[in-house]
Amino acid sequence: MSAPLDAYAPALERARTHAFAWLASVAERPVGPSADADELAPRFAAALPEEPTDPAAVVDELAALAAPGLMAMQSGRFFGWVIGGTLPAALAADWLVGAWDQNAGQRYSTPATAAAEEAAGGWLLDLLGLPAGSDVGFTTGATMANFVGLAAGRQDVLTRAGWDLDRDGLAGAPRIRVFVGEERHAVVDLVLRYLGLGAPVAVPVDGEGRILPGALATALDTHPGPAIVCLQAGNIHSGAFDPMREAVDAAHARGAWVHVDGAFGLWAAVSPRWAARLDGLDTADSWATDAHKTLNVPYDCGIAIVSRPAVVRAAFGVHTSYLMADDHGPGDPHEKVPELSRRARGVPVWAALRSLGRSGTVGLVEGLADAAAALARGMAAIPGAEVLNDVVFTQVCTSFGSDERTRRVTRRLIEDGTAWMSGSRWHDRDVLRISVSNWTTDAEDVRRSVDAVARAAAQEP
Ligand SMILES: *Cc1c(COP(=O)(O)O)cnc(C)c1O
Repeated sequence: MSAPLDAYAPALERARTHAFAWLASVAERPVGPSADADELAPRFAAALPEEPTDPAAVVDELAALAAPGLMAMQSGRFFGWVIGGTLPAALAADWLVGAWDQNAGQRYSTPATAAAEEAAGGWLLDLLGLPAGSDVGFTTGATMANFVGLAAGRQDVLTRAGWDLDRDGLAGAPRIRVFVGEERHAVVDLVLRYLGLGAPVAVPVDGEGRILPGALATALDTHPGPAIVCLQAGNIHSGAFDPMREAVDAAHARGAWVHVDGAFGLWAAVSPRWAARLDGLDTADSWATDAHKTLNVPYDCGIAIVSRPAVVRAAFGVHTSYLMADDHGPGDPHEKVPELSRRARGVPVWAALRSLGRSGTVGLVEGLADAAAALARGMAAIPGAEVLNDVVFTQVCTSFGSDERTRRVTRRLIEDGTAWMSGSRWHDRDVLRISVSNWTTDAEDVRRSVDAVARAAAQEP
């Protein structure tokens, strides 16, 4: 028997009511939570009841328990990390995906989600200016999207070195060296551990964190053999982009696979105003980005793009009797990622892009950068404050003199609740870091946030 609608409707109606109340509260509630996890855990952990509970009552209880511990990450004044909010069409599509409950791995069994994913992938390649015909896979985030690109690189450089990775594994294989800029994101190192590739070779960068192509060439020449280069589009402190064309040319001239970690910054490629900074991006071999950051799709949604489908499908395709693989054509969703997200992540991405259109997507990206520029101007005008980065895409790092004072201002700001920014450390200095990633951030949010920082600074001389 299938459950009748009556079994679902009351709980879904309650969820809708609570979701609407939450969304209505975001604009004015304090950005941070009012209770911490230590306070909340025992409330959630009441004894597991012996008897079943009505689903609608469970939803009411969940909403009440969670309320004090929610961070308004989709607030226009949340700048804690590059987190992104949720576009209305994407959130609604995500609800539908939940209701549809598709195990969205194969074209033949779940054709609707596979088709939406293929369409979203085609739009993304077009918007980002990446090679048509690349495979686009949907992961839980940029961490796993980086895993995809680096795993494809591992497969390719070992195959070219005459080593059969699938048969013989990594033990005894030629040593692969991975070259990264000194300011790569920490998850790149994590992913290299997952892949058994060990610690990377860190290449010097300039004052904004951009890899130095000459230094990259020297490093590659110092360590001949199978090589992968991992570039960065969007430094989490400065917002800066590695010089793509020069770095890719240097790497390709030495036979390396080139992957780009563009978790939030890859989106700059959609904007005519920003794309020149990513000149040569399309000449790399693989790219990772997030839709849950700049594109404002709900969590979790990363995007893994590989220019040569045969390489990524060799790495991730499963060939068993019950999965009927089609080696030609678009390929199945599960062949492009290490672990398929059953959340059919291509569907909210499709809905986001469908609702924004080309101009809306460009406007979203440029709007975030404009808000960051306005915030940087506001921060620089606060007495005693110093903005440390000159390339502002969506990132602004400010020091308030001593490390100790910067930390006090950060704490005071978070207590105030008007805006949420994170403390970080860059170039051996404590900074108050702004990451702009919410589609709703407007001039009023910018003004109120700068005022809140100025207030915090005035109270912490
Ligand atoms: C956020 C980020 C990541 C990790 O992305 P997740 O979506 O959290 O897995 C990797 N690299 C950069 C540059 C990032 O900003």
